[in-house]
This record gives sequence, C-alpha cells and structure tokens, in this order.
Amino acid sequence: MRVLQARDWESSGPILQIKNLHVHYLTADGAVQAVRGVDFTLNAGQRLALVGESGCGKTTLALAIMRLLRPPAQIVEGEIWLDGRNLLALNDEEMRLTRLADVSLVTQAAMNALNPVMRIEDQIIDGLQDHGIQWSKDEFGGYVRSLLANVGLDASAARMFPHELSGGMKQRVGMATATALKPKLIIADEPTSALDVVVQRQVMTTLGRLQRETGAAVILVGHDMGLVAQFADWVGVMYAGKLVELSPVEQIVQDPQHPYSKLLIQSVPGLEEKRERLIGIPGMPPRLIDLPSGCLFAPRCPSAMEHCLQTEPSLEPVAGNRQVACYLYAESYSQNNGAEVNA
Ligand code: SF4
Repeated sequence: MRVLQARDWESSGPILQIKNLHVHYLTADGAVQAVRGVDFTLNAGQRLALVGESGCGKTTLALAIMRLLRPPAQIVEGEIWLDGRNLLALNDEEMRLTRLADVSLVTQAAMNALNPVMRIEDQIIDGLQDHGIQWSKDEFGGYVRSLLANVGLDASAARMFPHELSGGMKQRVGMATATALKPKLIIADEPTSALDVVVQRQVMTTLGRLQRETGAAVILVGHDMGLVAQFADWVGVMYAGKLVELSPVEQIVQDPQHPYSKLLIQSVPGLEEKRERLIGIPGMPPRLIDLPSGCLFAPRCPSAMEHCLQTEPSLEPVAGNRQVACYLYAESYSQNNGAEVNA
C-alpha cells in the first residue's frame, strides 16, 4: 500500500512567521481593521491555540495564512512566511499547490468544505491528483482507506456521500483530507463548534494524535478556553484584532497576565464548582471601523489607568517566556500612572 511520509523540515526551526500582519475589510463606511499588527512565530510541531470573543480576528487571521480571504477583505500590510517562503509573494497557482501540501485547513463547517455530489473517496483522491500524485486506482483506494482508518472511520465511509455522514464523521473526513499530503502546518478553525461535548473530545483527541504522528505544527482557533487548554502548548489571546497575550498554556491557565485573559479564564466553569450563573465579560468589544485611541480593552478593564486611554500598548516580553500588551507590566507606567479609571 502506498504511504506518504511526513517530509523533512527543520525539526526545531520556525515553520510559520507572521510579521506585522494587518487585514482590513474595505467597506463603504471605511476600513474595518480586523487584524492589526499581529506578530508571532510557530516552530515545527508546536500547537498554538488562538482564542478570543467572536469578531476578534482569529478566523480572519487563519484565512489570511491560507490566502483564502475574499473581497472586501484585504491584507494591507505584513508578511507570512511558511518554512522560508513568503506566502504573500506566491502567485495564485503556487498558492493553490501550497494549500493541502504545505498548509491545510480544517474548517468549522465541514459540510461546506465537502462536495455534496462526490463520494468521500473521490474527493480525497481529487486533492491528491490535483497535487501531481499519479497512482493506480487500487493504490489510491488503499491510501484513502488508511487515511480514514487513521481518523477512526470505517473503510465503508469511503463510498459514502457527505450527507450520509454525521457531523463528527464529516469533521474526521476533514482531518483525513487535511493530513493526506502531510503538510507542515494544519489550521483547525473551531473544528468542534457544531458538535456535542463527547464528539468534541473525540475529534480533539484525533487531531492531537494526527499532530504527533505527522509532526505538523497546528493552529487551533477556538473560543472554548477549557477545550483548547487541553490541546495546545501555547495560547494566543486576541482582542479587537490584536494579540494581547502569548503564553505557554500552563502559565496562562494558572496565572493569566492580561486583564482580558484573566476574565476569559474566570469565565470557564470548573468541574468542582457549582455556579448559579455563568460569568461573562462585561461590556462589548469596540467597533473595528472606528477605533478610539489608547488600549481598546480600557472601557471593559477593571485595572485601566489614565495612561491606558492615550496610547495603545504593544505586545512586549514579560517574565516567564511570555508576551503581554498591557501597561500593568510596563514598570514606568504602572508606577507613575497608577490611577484606575474603571475602579
Ligand atoms: Fe487594562 Fe490598561 Fe492593561 Fe489595557 S493597558 S488591559 S486598560 S491595564
């Protein structure tokens, strides 16, 4: 049986580098600044979770990496490097071949990613042939069955149409397809959002196993802090289009630094505690078309200081191998401008 091996790449070097990325939605009323100056590096085999409320820019960022944004969305500034290649410099055909082979996407709407009138087997084979693989029918069939088995699906799923599969099965097909060419990076955009809790766990366990087997780096986009914390090595917290904290998962779960991260963690109910009501984060995120000056979290921040309203803080290193965009951690500001404005 034919098997594709994970290809060689630097085992410890950067696989993905995002540099000062800005994405705008250009509307008649002005530019909606959906992603604002995002910078981070992901090494081979790392698992990064991007979390934040709806509209914080995490899915836009994921689609920007895939170069799947459609107008009116536009990358207006920045660079995206995947294993040494600038994705923004590739032409459409080069980018088409890069998708699936080097970077693949597992979407939140698995049904939308599947062709409703093609059997599962034919869809996966189509993707392989589209990237130049020429095997016999039997070899393709054997490989598809091995991919399906690897995500916990019976071989009979190969001959099914998408509508014959449950939501969890469709998501498994999405993962089988995403790993078919052993990409360097897998982006999973809220892969469990439409699934019940038990199936969510199964899908995340499968994704984790696939990541270990292939050695790919993974970006998991999600808003369920509890779920992503069990999967990720690192967590990036996004607010209003910016990364406001980037931290190893244990550190952010046990000791979040940014006030928004703290509120996100507090909002996750623990198993042992009984809550009368779920804890939410008061207030609303800002309109990204009409940004005020200063820290955009200030109107909702229990620790906001006068200085916070003047200039937006940038993501800076703090103790413990983490980065935070907050003046509480910039000594000169926290010592000299300590008046709280939302106290
Ligand atoms: Fe709160 Fe100020 Fe930090 Fe913004 S910079 S999160 S307003 S303390």
